Amino acid sequence: MKRLKNKVAIITGAASGFGATDAKLFAKEGAKIMLTDINEENLKQVAEQIIQDGGTAIYATLNVTSPDDWQKVVKKATTEFGGIDILINNAGIAGYSSFLESDYDTFKKILDVNLNSQYLGIKAVAPAMIERKGGSIINMSSTVGATVALPGGDPGYATSKGGVRALTMQAAAELIGHNIRVNSIHPGIFRTPMNQALVDNVDAYQQAVQGIPAKRFGEAEEIANAALFLASDESSYMVGSELVVDGGLTII
Ligand code: NAD
Repeated sequence: MKRLKNKVAIITGAASGFGATDAKLFAKEGAKIMLTDINEENLKQVAEQIIQDGGTAIYATLNVTSPDDWQKVVKKATTEFGGIDILINNAGIAGYSSFLESDYDTFKKILDVNLNSQYLGIKAVAPAMIERKGGSIINMSSTVGATVALPGGDPGYATSKGGVRALTMQAAAELIGHNIRVNSIHPGIFRTPMNQALVDNVDAYQQAVQGIPAKRFGEAEEIANAALFLASDESSYMVGSELVVDGGLTII
């Protein structure tokens, strides 16, 4: 039995990394996928691959910071697929400045893309989920900002990911009244395009790996499996939970 049979999922940041991998796994498990991203070219490729593999997917460009884009995507998903059951608030950008080097414009931009966008996404899909009498929303946070602060780490990135914890709890507490579960995933360090520069720098990579008890970076499939669990009814009693997937990074 497919674990997401007949479910409709909107995934943001689906042109790359976790988002694309989530989309492929969810499609294999029977979900109809609305892929979204600002990178239309890569988005199209992911959609074509899912369809080639026998899945169901459509795509639309969505800048997650735009309330108008969100309305268009919700309309498209409900028109083409009849409703919305799952949202993965996955799109995000990294930050590369230390606190003292950082500037306010970049700080605000990262908060807008990584945190405010998730508020907009939840607000946009909630009415459609209420109509379906339930749903599952997964917010991508991080171990950074939620449980650890790295010296020299970017303040915007950390603040955005810490904010996702609070947003998840607040939305979860209210929306469970409509049978909508809101949970978050907290990845450690993964081999995705976001970390390509680190992976390509042999010395920096080896140093980073030494700090992880599992002695390797995670793979996107290991996040997709966690997202699948939270999206499916197997996690039916998980509400406002924080799923850490980090190879032990935060237990030492
Ligand atoms: P990635 O860079 O591979 O993919 C991110 C995607 O988001 C890209 O396709 C990009 O085009 C899209 N995007 C960026 N800004 C956007 C916008 N304004 N509107 C719509 N789409 C936009 O990154 P990833 O590693 O797959 O990360 C996905 C999520 O997981 C992010 O929220 C990231 O912060 C989080 N995360 C990643 C790691 C890691 O180690 N890779 C660790 C912790 C958390």
